Amino acid sequence: MNDYRIAAIPGDGIGNEVLPEGIRVLEAAGKRFGLSFTFDHFDWSCEHYAKHGRMMPEGGLDLIRKHHAIFLGAVGFPGVPDHVSLWGLLIPIRRDFNQYVNLRPCRVLQGMKSPLAGRGPDDIDFYVVRENVEGEYSEIGGRMFRGTEHETAMQESIFTRRGTDRVMRYAFELARKRAKKHVTSATKSNGIVHTMPFWDERFAAMKANYPDIRADQFHIDILTAHFVQHPDWFDVVVGSNLFGDILSDLGPAVAGSIGIAPSANINPEREFPSMFEPVHGSAPDIAGKGIANPIGQIWSGAMMLEHLGHKDAADAVVRAIEVALADPKARTRDLGGSANTVECGRIIAEAVATA
Ligand code: ATP
Ligand code: MG
Repeated sequence: MNDYRIAAIPGDGIGNEVLPEGIRVLEAAGKRFGLSFTFDHFDWSCEHYAKHGRMMPEGGLDLIRKHHAIFLGAVGFPGVPDHVSLWGLLIPIRRDFNQYVNLRPCRVLQGMKSPLAGRGPDDIDFYVVRENVEGEYSEIGGRMFRGTEHETAMQESIFTRRGTDRVMRYAFELARKRAKKHVTSATKSNGIVHTMPFWDERFAAMKANYPDIRADQFHIDILTAHFVQHPDWFDVVVGSNLFGDILSDLGPAVAGSIGIAPSANINPEREFPSMFEPVHGSAPDIAGKGIANPIGQIWSGAMMLEHLGHKDAADAVVRAIEVALADPKARTRDLGGSANTVECGRIIAEAVATA
Protein backbone atom coordinates (compact mmCIF):
# COMPACT_ATOMS: atom_id res chain seq x y z
CA MET A 1 0.00 0.00 0.00
CA ASN A 2 1.62 3.21 -1.15
CA ASP A 3 -1.13 5.83 -0.71
CA TYR A 4 -0.91 7.71 2.55
CA ARG A 5 -3.22 10.18 4.24
CA ILE A 6 -1.28 12.47 6.53
CA ALA A 7 -2.64 14.91 9.13
CA ALA A 8 -0.57 18.09 8.79
CA ILE A 9 -0.54 20.40 11.83
CA PRO A 10 1.75 23.40 11.23
CA GLY A 11 1.05 24.86 14.71
CA ASP A 12 2.61 28.20 15.61
CA GLY A 13 5.49 30.48 14.64
CA ILE A 14 8.06 28.89 12.35
CA GLY A 15 5.98 25.70 12.30
CA ASN A 16 4.04 27.44 9.52
CA GLU A 17 7.25 28.05 7.58
CA VAL A 18 9.08 24.76 7.97
CA LEU A 19 6.13 22.36 7.57
CA PRO A 20 5.54 23.26 3.88
CA GLU A 21 9.21 22.45 3.20
CA GLY A 22 8.81 19.09 4.94
CA ILE A 23 5.83 18.43 2.67
CA ARG A 24 7.73 19.55 -0.43
CA VAL A 25 10.48 17.03 0.29
CA LEU A 26 8.04 14.20 1.10
CA GLU A 27 6.33 14.81 -2.22
CA ALA A 28 9.66 14.75 -4.04
CA ALA A 29 10.55 11.48 -2.32
CA GLY A 30 7.11 10.14 -3.18
CA LYS A 31 7.68 10.92 -6.84
CA ARG A 32 10.91 8.99 -6.89
CA PHE A 33 9.78 6.00 -4.85
CA GLY A 34 6.19 5.65 -6.08
CA LEU A 35 4.41 6.87 -2.93
CA SER A 36 1.48 9.23 -2.87
CA PHE A 37 0.52 11.50 0.00
CA THR A 38 -2.67 13.38 0.75
CA PHE A 39 -2.15 16.06 3.39
CA ASP A 40 -5.15 17.21 5.43
CA HIS A 41 -4.36 20.48 7.22
CA PHE A 42 -5.49 21.28 10.76
CA ASP A 43 -5.01 24.76 12.24
CA TRP A 44 -4.64 23.54 15.83
CA SER A 45 -2.35 26.00 17.57
CA CYS A 46 -2.05 28.75 20.15
CA GLU A 47 -3.82 30.99 17.65
CA HIS A 48 -6.74 28.53 17.73
CA TYR A 49 -6.55 28.72 21.52
CA ALA A 50 -6.70 32.53 21.45
CA LYS A 51 -9.83 32.42 19.26
CA HIS A 52 -11.67 29.45 20.74
CA GLY A 53 -10.18 28.82 24.17
CA ARG A 54 -8.82 25.40 23.13
CA MET A 55 -5.79 24.21 21.19
CA MET A 56 -8.01 21.95 19.08
CA PRO A 57 -11.76 21.49 18.71
CA GLU A 58 -13.61 19.09 20.95
CA GLY A 59 -13.45 15.61 19.43
CA GLY A 60 -10.46 16.76 17.35
CA LEU A 61 -8.57 13.54 17.89
CA ASP A 62 -11.32 11.61 16.13
CA LEU A 63 -10.62 13.65 13.00
CA ILE A 64 -7.07 12.30 12.74
CA ARG A 65 -7.41 8.85 14.32
CA LYS A 66 -7.56 7.10 10.95
CA HIS A 67 -4.69 8.97 9.30
CA HIS A 68 -1.49 7.04 8.58
CA ALA A 69 0.65 9.60 10.39
CA ILE A 70 0.70 13.09 11.89
CA PHE A 71 3.23 15.64 10.63
CA LEU A 72 3.55 18.49 13.12
CA GLY A 73 5.50 21.78 12.96
CA ALA A 74 5.76 23.35 16.41
CA VAL A 75 3.33 24.65 18.99
CA GLY A 76 3.76 27.34 21.61
CA PHE A 77 3.65 31.11 21.56
CA PRO A 78 4.47 33.97 23.94
CA GLY A 79 1.51 34.79 26.15
CA VAL A 80 0.16 31.25 26.08
CA PRO A 81 1.60 29.23 28.96
CA ASP A 82 3.61 26.19 27.81
CA HIS A 83 1.40 23.81 29.79
CA VAL A 84 -1.57 24.89 27.63
CA SER A 85 0.05 23.81 24.37
CA LEU A 86 1.50 20.71 26.01
CA TRP A 87 -1.60 19.47 27.85
CA GLY A 88 -4.03 20.88 25.25
CA LEU A 89 -2.48 19.23 22.19
CA LEU A 90 0.75 17.25 22.40
CA ILE A 91 0.02 15.13 25.46
CA PRO A 92 -3.54 14.19 24.40
CA ILE A 93 -2.19 13.07 21.01
CA ARG A 94 0.64 11.06 22.57
CA ARG A 95 -1.60 9.39 25.14
CA ASP A 96 -4.74 8.82 23.10
CA PHE A 97 -2.76 7.32 20.24
CA ASN A 98 -0.59 5.30 22.58
CA GLN A 99 2.62 6.82 21.21
CA TYR A 100 4.61 5.34 24.04
CA VAL A 101 8.01 5.70 22.36
CA ASN A 102 9.63 9.05 21.79
CA LEU A 103 12.53 8.46 19.43
CA ARG A 104 15.34 10.91 18.71
CA PRO A 105 18.32 10.20 16.50
CA CYS A 106 21.48 11.88 17.74
CA ARG A 107 23.75 11.86 14.75
CA VAL A 108 26.28 14.22 13.21
CA LEU A 109 25.37 14.41 9.53
CA GLN A 110 28.07 14.87 6.90
CA GLY A 111 28.60 18.60 6.59
CA MET A 112 27.74 19.32 10.24
CA LYS A 113 30.11 19.84 13.15
CA SER A 114 29.59 18.67 16.70
CA PRO A 115 30.25 21.35 19.32
CA LEU A 116 32.48 18.73 20.98
CA ALA A 117 36.02 19.26 19.75
CA GLY A 118 37.24 16.56 17.39
CA ARG A 119 33.91 14.69 17.21
CA GLY A 120 32.27 13.99 13.88
CA PRO A 121 29.94 11.63 12.03
CA ASP A 122 32.02 8.56 12.98
CA ASP A 123 31.74 9.26 16.72
CA ILE A 124 28.17 10.37 17.26
CA ASP A 125 25.41 8.15 15.94
CA PHE A 126 22.94 6.92 18.53
CA TYR A 127 19.26 6.98 19.43
CA VAL A 128 17.51 8.12 22.59
CA VAL A 129 14.36 6.08 23.30
CA ARG A 130 12.18 7.90 25.81
CA GLU A 131 9.16 6.41 27.55
CA ASN A 132 6.46 8.83 26.45
CA VAL A 133 3.21 8.23 28.36
CA GLU A 134 3.82 7.29 32.01
CA GLY A 135 6.61 7.63 34.59
CA GLU A 136 7.28 10.93 36.29
CA TYR A 137 4.88 12.98 34.14
CA SER A 138 1.68 12.01 35.90
CA GLU A 139 -1.09 14.24 37.14
CA ILE A 140 -1.26 12.41 40.45
CA GLY A 141 -0.26 14.50 43.41
CA GLY A 142 -1.15 17.77 44.94
CA ARG A 143 -0.43 20.55 47.36
CA MET A 144 -1.16 20.70 51.05
CA PHE A 145 -1.10 23.39 53.70
CA ARG A 146 -0.95 26.13 51.07
CA GLY A 147 0.45 29.40 52.25
CA THR A 148 1.67 28.01 55.56
CA GLU A 149 5.20 27.19 56.60
CA HIS A 150 4.22 23.50 56.25
CA GLU A 151 3.33 23.95 52.60
CA THR A 152 4.06 20.67 50.80
CA ALA A 153 3.90 19.52 47.19
CA MET A 154 3.78 15.86 46.19
CA GLN A 155 3.96 14.20 42.81
CA GLU A 156 3.61 10.48 42.11
CA SER A 157 5.50 8.58 39.41
CA ILE A 158 3.78 5.64 37.77
CA PHE A 159 5.80 2.78 36.31
CA THR A 160 3.81 -0.23 35.14
CA ARG A 161 5.32 -3.53 34.09
CA ARG A 162 3.52 -3.33 30.77
CA GLY A 163 4.59 0.27 30.15
CA THR A 164 8.20 -0.37 31.15
CA ASP A 165 8.60 -3.64 29.27
CA ARG A 166 7.21 -2.34 26.00
CA VAL A 167 9.54 0.65 25.73
CA MET A 168 12.52 -1.53 26.67
CA ARG A 169 11.51 -4.12 24.09
CA TYR A 170 11.41 -1.34 21.49
CA ALA A 171 14.93 -0.29 22.45
CA PHE A 172 16.30 -3.84 22.18
CA GLU A 173 14.55 -4.45 18.85
CA LEU A 174 16.00 -1.19 17.50
CA ALA A 175 19.50 -2.18 18.67
CA ARG A 176 19.11 -5.53 16.96
CA LYS A 177 18.80 -3.73 13.60
CA ARG A 178 21.97 -1.71 14.21
CA ALA A 179 25.64 -2.53 13.84
CA LYS A 180 26.76 -1.92 17.43
CA LYS A 181 23.89 -3.86 19.05
CA HIS A 182 24.19 -2.07 22.35
CA VAL A 183 21.48 -0.82 24.72
CA THR A 184 22.16 1.49 27.68
CA SER A 185 19.55 2.10 30.37
CA ALA A 186 19.31 5.39 32.28
CA THR A 187 18.56 4.78 35.95
CA LYS A 188 18.82 6.35 39.39
CA SER A 189 18.13 3.39 41.63
CA ASN A 190 20.55 4.63 44.29
CA GLY A 191 18.38 7.67 45.05
CA ILE A 192 14.90 6.77 43.85
CA VAL A 193 14.18 3.64 45.80
CA HIS A 194 10.87 2.28 44.48
CA THR A 195 10.41 3.04 40.81
CA MET A 196 14.03 2.90 39.65
CA PRO A 197 14.90 -0.50 41.16
CA PHE A 198 11.75 -1.73 39.42
CA TRP A 199 12.99 -0.17 36.16
CA ASP A 200 16.36 -1.96 36.65
CA GLU A 201 14.64 -5.30 37.33
CA ARG A 202 12.58 -5.02 34.15
CA PHE A 203 15.69 -4.05 32.20
CA ALA A 204 17.53 -7.13 33.48
CA ALA A 205 14.55 -9.32 32.58
CA MET A 206 14.33 -7.86 29.05
CA LYS A 207 18.08 -8.19 28.52
CA ALA A 208 17.81 -11.94 29.16
CA ASN A 209 15.66 -12.20 26.00
CA TYR A 210 18.37 -10.59 23.88
CA PRO A 211 21.65 -12.49 24.35
CA ASP A 212 22.92 -10.97 21.09
CA ILE A 213 22.74 -7.41 22.46
CA ARG A 214 25.25 -5.83 24.83
CA ALA A 215 23.33 -4.14 27.64
CA ASP A 216 24.48 -1.86 30.42
CA GLN A 217 23.15 0.87 32.68
CA PHE A 218 24.29 4.14 34.23
CA HIS A 219 22.85 6.51 36.76
CA ILE A 220 21.41 9.53 34.98
CA ASP A 221 23.93 11.94 36.51
CA ILE A 222 27.06 10.20 35.23
CA LEU A 223 25.25 9.25 32.02
CA THR A 224 24.87 12.92 31.08
CA ALA A 225 28.62 13.36 31.62
CA HIS A 226 29.34 10.35 29.38
CA PHE A 227 27.16 11.82 26.63
CA VAL A 228 29.60 14.71 26.48
CA GLN A 229 32.84 12.86 27.16
CA HIS A 230 32.23 9.54 25.36
CA PRO A 231 29.37 9.97 22.88
CA ASP A 232 30.98 7.23 20.78
CA TRP A 233 30.04 4.60 23.42
CA PHE A 234 26.35 4.83 22.75
CA ASP A 235 24.04 3.11 20.31
CA VAL A 236 20.52 2.97 21.81
CA VAL A 237 19.81 4.67 25.14
CA VAL A 238 16.51 3.96 26.90
CA GLY A 239 15.12 6.17 29.67
CA SER A 240 11.97 6.97 31.61
CA ASN A 241 9.79 9.91 30.62
CA LEU A 242 11.82 12.43 32.67
CA PHE A 243 15.32 11.04 32.12
CA GLY A 244 14.53 10.43 28.46
CA ASP A 245 13.34 14.03 28.15
CA ILE A 246 16.64 15.36 29.45
CA LEU A 247 18.76 12.99 27.37
CA SER A 248 16.77 13.70 24.23
CA ASP A 249 17.70 17.38 24.37
CA LEU A 250 21.29 16.71 25.37
CA GLY A 251 21.78 14.11 22.61
CA PRO A 252 20.91 16.37 19.65
CA ALA A 253 22.89 19.19 21.29
CA VAL A 254 26.11 17.12 21.34
CA ALA A 255 25.34 16.07 17.77
CA GLY A 256 25.26 19.63 16.47
CA SER A 257 22.42 22.04 16.01
CA ILE A 258 19.10 21.51 17.74
CA GLY A 259 17.63 23.37 14.71
CA ILE A 260 18.14 20.33 12.49
CA ALA A 261 17.17 17.58 14.96
CA PRO A 262 14.09 15.41 14.29
CA SER A 263 11.86 13.41 16.59
CA ALA A 264 9.11 10.82 16.42
CA ASN A 265 6.32 9.84 18.80
CA ILE A 266 5.68 6.25 17.88
CA ASN A 267 2.90 3.76 18.39
CA PRO A 268 4.92 0.66 17.45
CA GLU A 269 1.85 -1.57 17.10
CA ARG A 270 0.46 0.85 14.47
CA GLU A 271 -3.05 0.77 15.95
CA PHE A 272 -2.99 4.58 15.78
CA PRO A 273 -1.06 7.23 13.85
CA SER A 274 2.45 8.11 14.99
CA MET A 275 3.55 11.75 15.06
CA PHE A 276 6.69 13.28 13.56
CA GLU A 277 7.97 16.74 14.52
CA PRO A 278 11.21 18.71 14.71
CA VAL A 279 12.85 19.00 18.13
CA HIS A 280 12.90 22.79 18.05
CA GLY A 281 10.00 24.97 19.14
CA SER A 282 8.06 27.74 17.41
CA ALA A 283 11.00 30.20 17.66
CA PRO A 284 8.94 33.40 18.05
CA ASP A 285 12.13 35.48 17.76
CA ILE A 286 12.54 34.59 14.07
CA ALA A 287 8.94 33.69 13.14
CA GLY A 288 7.53 35.43 10.06
CA LYS A 289 10.95 36.24 8.61
CA GLY A 290 11.25 33.19 6.39
CA ILE A 291 14.73 32.35 7.66
CA ALA A 292 14.07 29.28 9.82
CA ASN A 293 16.05 26.16 9.06
CA PRO A 294 13.62 23.54 7.69
CA ILE A 295 15.99 20.57 8.12
CA GLY A 296 14.56 19.43 11.50
CA GLN A 297 11.15 19.18 9.84
CA ILE A 298 12.49 17.51 6.71
CA TRP A 299 14.48 14.93 8.70
CA SER A 300 11.30 14.24 10.75
CA GLY A 301 9.64 13.49 7.41
CA ALA A 302 12.39 10.95 6.74
CA MET A 303 11.57 9.27 10.07
CA MET A 304 7.94 9.16 8.96
CA LEU A 305 8.91 7.46 5.70
CA GLU A 306 10.91 4.86 7.63
CA HIS A 307 8.01 4.24 10.02
CA LEU A 308 5.66 3.75 7.05
CA GLY A 309 8.01 1.05 5.77
CA HIS A 310 10.02 3.00 3.18
CA LYS A 311 13.56 2.95 4.48
CA ASP A 312 14.96 3.47 0.97
CA ALA A 313 13.02 6.74 0.66
CA ALA A 314 14.00 7.79 4.20
CA ASP A 315 17.69 7.19 3.47
CA ALA A 316 17.42 9.21 0.26
CA VAL A 317 15.99 12.17 2.19
CA VAL A 318 18.81 12.04 4.74
CA ARG A 319 21.38 11.86 1.91
CA ALA A 320 19.69 14.85 0.25
CA ILE A 321 20.00 16.78 3.53
CA GLU A 322 23.71 15.95 3.53
CA VAL A 323 24.04 17.16 -0.07
CA ALA A 324 22.42 20.45 0.99
CA LEU A 325 24.62 20.79 4.05
CA ALA A 326 27.66 20.56 1.78
CA ASP A 327 26.30 23.40 -0.41
CA PRO A 328 26.87 26.88 1.05
CA LYS A 329 23.94 28.17 -1.04
CA ALA A 330 21.56 25.91 0.89
CA ARG A 331 22.62 26.93 4.38
CA THR A 332 20.26 28.99 6.48
CA ARG A 333 21.46 31.72 8.83
CA ASP A 334 21.71 29.48 11.91
CA LEU A 335 24.25 27.38 9.95
CA GLY A 336 26.23 30.42 8.86
CA GLY A 337 24.63 30.85 5.42
CA SER A 338 22.12 33.24 3.94
CA ALA A 339 19.56 30.90 2.32
CA ASN A 340 15.97 31.36 3.34
CA THR A 341 13.65 28.56 4.42
CA VAL A 342 12.17 28.00 0.97
CA GLU A 343 15.54 28.02 -0.82
CA CYS A 344 16.92 25.40 1.56
CA GLY A 345 13.77 23.26 1.18
CA ARG A 346 13.91 23.47 -2.63
CA ILE A 347 17.56 22.41 -2.81
CA ILE A 348 16.84 19.37 -0.63
CA ALA A 349 13.71 18.48 -2.65
CA GLU A 350 15.75 18.62 -5.86
CA ALA A 351 18.53 16.55 -4.37
CA VAL A 352 16.09 13.80 -3.34
CA ALA A 353 15.60 12.92 -6.99
CA THR A 354 19.17 11.66 -7.31
CA ALA A 355 20.61 11.33 -3.77
P1 ATP B 1 10.10 25.01 23.15
O1 ATP B 1 9.79 25.72 24.41
O2 ATP B 1 8.94 24.92 22.21
O3 ATP B 1 10.85 23.75 23.30
P2 ATP B 1 12.07 27.01 22.96
O4 ATP B 1 11.33 28.29 23.13
O5 ATP B 1 12.82 26.44 24.07
O6 ATP B 1 11.10 25.95 22.36
P3 ATP B 1 12.89 27.27 20.25
O7 ATP B 1 11.57 27.81 19.87
O8 ATP B 1 13.29 25.98 19.65
O9 ATP B 1 13.08 27.14 21.77
O10 ATP B 1 14.00 28.37 19.96
C1 ATP B 1 15.27 28.39 20.60
C2 ATP B 1 16.26 29.22 19.78
O11 ATP B 1 16.64 28.45 18.63
C3 ATP B 1 15.65 30.50 19.25
O12 ATP B 1 16.62 31.53 19.27
C4 ATP B 1 15.28 30.16 17.84
O13 ATP B 1 15.30 31.26 16.97
C5 ATP B 1 16.32 29.13 17.44
N1 ATP B 1 15.73 28.15 16.50
C6 ATP B 1 14.86 27.17 16.81
N2 ATP B 1 14.51 26.48 15.73
C7 ATP B 1 15.17 27.03 14.69
C8 ATP B 1 15.21 26.76 13.28
N3 ATP B 1 14.49 25.77 12.72
N4 ATP B 1 16.00 27.54 12.51
C9 ATP B 1 16.73 28.53 13.05
N5 ATP B 1 16.74 28.84 14.36
C10 ATP B 1 15.96 28.11 15.18
MG1 MG C 1 9.31 27.93 23.89
